[in-house]
Amino acid sequence: MLEMKPKTPAKKLHRIQRNTVSHWVGNGFPVRTLFSYSSLGSTISPFLLFDYAGPKEFPPTEKRLGVGEHPHRGFETVTIVYSGEVEHRDSSGGGGKIGPGDVQWMTAASGLVHDEFHSQNFARHGGIFEVVQLWVNLPAKDKMSPPRYQNILNDQIPFMILPNGQGSIRVIAGKYDDLIGPAMTFTPIHVWDLLLKNKKPFNLVVPDDRTALLAVLKGSVQINSSNTIRAAEVGVFDGTGDHISIESSKNATALLLCGEPINEPIAGSGPFVMNTQSEINQAIADYQSDKMGHVTS
Ligand code: MN
Repeated sequence: MLEMKPKTPAKKLHRIQRNTVSHWVGNGFPVRTLFSYSSLGSTISPFLLFDYAGPKEFPPTEKRLGVGEHPHRGFETVTIVYSGEVEHRDSSGGGGKIGPGDVQWMTAASGLVHDEFHSQNFARHGGIFEVVQLWVNLPAKDKMSPPRYQNILNDQIPFMILPNGQGSIRVIAGKYDDLIGPAMTFTPIHVWDLLLKNKKPFNLVVPDDRTALLAVLKGSVQINSSNTIRAAEVGVFDGTGDHISIESSKNATALLLCGEPINEPIAGSGPFVMNTQSEINQAIADYQSDKMGHVTS
């Protein structure tokens, strides 16, 4: 039997990140922070942080569950909903609602204040809540650009069935094969939402010489016929190599994150990620003197 020989070797799995400890963000988001720049620094650049909320069942309630107004500056928050519904309002007077399959790509950049809650409709009915929030860094030159929102609905995200019944892929950002993701990004980034069906191992083509991370949400994924990344774990790959060999459990879900590293210093504190400590001090001062505004109801 003939085997297709890839041009370069498979990317090597460098390490597996996990965090079994969860914490509450406000009273609506039971979150495991699967990776963060505070421990991994620039090795995961341009990505900064990955919060996995749920999956958790919430009983019906009339309460507003979530997190009240708080600022961000210097990066982007990308919220991907798997189950449930999230509502937000911000200091520019904007707001919106995203449900299963939808993505909110928020560029905080120079700064804004927002809140994030379960939608009233979801809270009233209750159900399983499962949401990812990814933080993406901005290059220094774009950190003080104006904030913007991209509300990307499920039906705007192109998807394709992978060959041989392996599953399917949705391209949120960047490209895969002929699919082009709708998210506008400041640096080259790929975000692929994968549903893997486990027929047999296959090679997922992933660009060479870039940061590459595979966050497994459900099921498990065996890499290069050796290590296994389990649910709520993230595989961090070496840059070299143009594919990852994947063998999954049945109906595994995973996010493949790939991007060109931003080779600039990172200084962060809470909701602010800048390049220097003095810029952090400035962000705190600007927030405290109301320069980032308030959510108005
Ligand atoms: Mn926020």
